[in-house]
Amino acid sequence: MEELKPLIRIQEIDIELKKIELRLREEIPKLLQEIQEGKEKAELIVKQAEERIENNLKKRRELDLEIKSIEENIKKHRAQINTVKTNEAYKALIEEIEAEQRKKSSMEDRVLELMIEEEELHKEKEKSKQESERIKTEFSQREKKLLEEKNSLLKKKEILTAEREGLISKIKPSLYELYIQIASKRGGIALSPVSDGFCSVCQIRIRPQVLEELKKGEEIIRCENCSRILYIPEIKESES
Ligand SMILES: [Zn+2]
Repeated sequence: MEELKPLIRIQEIDIELKKIELRLREEIPKLLQEIQEGKEKAELIVKQAEERIENNLKKRRELDLEIKSIEENIKKHRAQINTVKTNEAYKALIEEIEAEQRKKSSMEDRVLELMIEEEELHKEKEKSKQESERIKTEFSQREKKLLEEKNSLLKKKEILTAEREGLISKIKPSLYELYIQIASKRGGIALSPVSDGFCSVCQIRIRPQVLEELKKGEEIIRCENCSRILYIPEIKESES
């Protein structure tokens, strides 16, 4: 049926536009969001490594201060030794000094450990940096591809929309309205090609009488089950 030809093309275009819209409005923004989050995570790895180094230095500064203060005490207590009068007081001071020296020595050991740890932390940081750069580069490439896809989809959308506009003028307004009405209620699919005597969308068998009417091609015939506009697809001759 000649009248249906532009409408069949509109149906094809609408299916294509729906896919494009889904990609543009949902899938691509979601993927771009994931890429953004991935990049942020990659940066976080480096930041965390830097924080571990900061903590190490902070602990060492604290220990250095404590060691200084213990050294002051030791100095003070050594000076007091010369002024004590009793043996007990002398003994007590010596014990105190010894205890302070033990404490100082264990803190110095801890400082050494932290210095060794710092070296390791710097190596870790370098590794994190490389890993982070690798991840970010990969994400940037994916991002670039998605943006290219987005641009090409926008162009395609424009071309299809223009073609669609041109087709509308070739269709009777009442038929176009019917198309819109059915499409809005039936998931965007208003037309159904007949295939081996079945409605190819809802799979119901079409009565022979209806099939005859269809073949005559004199009027618009709708599927008795799904209400879609039926048509017999043209057999495409293979190009030779
Ligand atoms: Zn049907």
